[in-house]
Amino acid sequence: MNSLQKRILIDGKVLPGNILKVDSFLNHQLDIHLLKEMGKDFYDLFRDKEINKILTIEASGIAIACYAAEFFNVPVVFAKKGQHKNVGTDVYTAEVFSFTKGSTYEVTVSKLFLHPEDKILIIDDFLANGQAVLGLQQIIKEAGAELCGAGIAIEKAFQPGEKLLLDAGIDVRALAVIESMDGCKVVFRD
Ligand code: 5GP
Repeated sequence: MNSLQKRILIDGKVLPGNILKVDSFLNHQLDIHLLKEMGKDFYDLFRDKEINKILTIEASGIAIACYAAEFFNVPVVFAKKGQHKNVGTDVYTAEVFSFTKGSTYEVTVSKLFLHPEDKILIIDDFLANGQAVLGLQQIIKEAGAELCGAGIAIEKAFQPGEKLLLDAGIDVRALAVIESMDGCKVVFRD
């Protein structure tokens, strides 16, 4: 069992609606030692892919992506949510349905920061229905860049995201794969 999995068992809280709350170490307060270990774990999983850029979505993906980026020694680009005047009009956009909010939002990345020669790793905190990663994949396609994989901190394998991403040809790997949260008990895949 890795450090993230151990921490989920100690401090994760299962909420109604299949939501896992990890605010005390990953989503609000940040445990920097854990984040550093996770960054190294992502590097070990994708080190052979010649990644030159990491793409994530604000806000919860950013810290995780930055720690991973330090090991890859590459920049991080984060997609902004909603309409942003200061991003400019020369942007890539995609629609994303939010599992936690139950509504659709737009994600935007400036064309200045994604290029056809880029080999991109997506990093995000959770994989539930796969919509966030599919939105980022669409943006990467628009940019003509290559998506090399998706590194997810916590995957809820009982939701459809993993299958959708594998069907979309994405090499998706997660540090903590949760098989079930029935009765508020977190059970990991071996
Ligand atoms: P998806 O697009 O895969 O349906 O959902 C991914 C996004 O929804 C993540 O970026 C994360 O912010 C949020 N999310 C999904 N499930 C959970 C959860 O169980 N707990 C928390 N804290 N966020 C979640």
